[in-house]
Amino acid sequence: MVTATKKKFQREDLKAGEVLCEYCTAKCCRYFALPVDTPKNRKDFDNFRWYMLHGRVAFFVEDGTWFLMVYADCKHLQPDHMCGIYETRPQICRDYSTDNCEFDDDALYDMYFETPEQLWEFAQAILPPEQQRKFSAEPVQPGELSLPLA
Ligand code: SF4
Ligand code: SF4
Repeated sequence: MVTATKKKFQREDLKAGEVLCEYCTAKCCRYFALPVDTPKNRKDFDNFRWYMLHGRVAFFVEDGTWFLMVYADCKHLQPDHMCGIYETRPQICRDYSTDNCEFDDDALYDMYFETPEQLWEFAQAILPPEQQRKFSAEPVQPGELSLPLA
């Protein structure tokens, strides 16, 4: 049996007078991201890992810049995906535009680290052996993963 699949609403489908946000689940109100210094050594990666251990925290890299991303719904986001304090919303919300927003963004980045383990594995791959040993309590054997994850 052939079933018709509903076409996902695209930005280009917007009619004159409509607002893109009416078709969105408020993607931009559910996280914030801040640029951070590029991690250069084991201590930096260990700090990043600490951030990630606090919950819904990720890192992504775009055009060489690292970003800390915190997934957290704004406390004023309403069940209908509308803003509960529209008239007094922060300036950063007022400045945000649908022109380049993430409405149809698939959240693809140059690099994306979703778990501390992923980040640690990456650190393990790029740091020189002496960096891997520096903060480890255990002596490192050649080819052995030495960075504690627990
Ligand atoms: S600005 Fe973009 S991401 Fe934010 S609610 Fe509107 S359409 Fe969605
Ligand atoms: S204040 Fe309103 S527009 Fe701004 S993040 Fe919260 S719900 Fe979204």
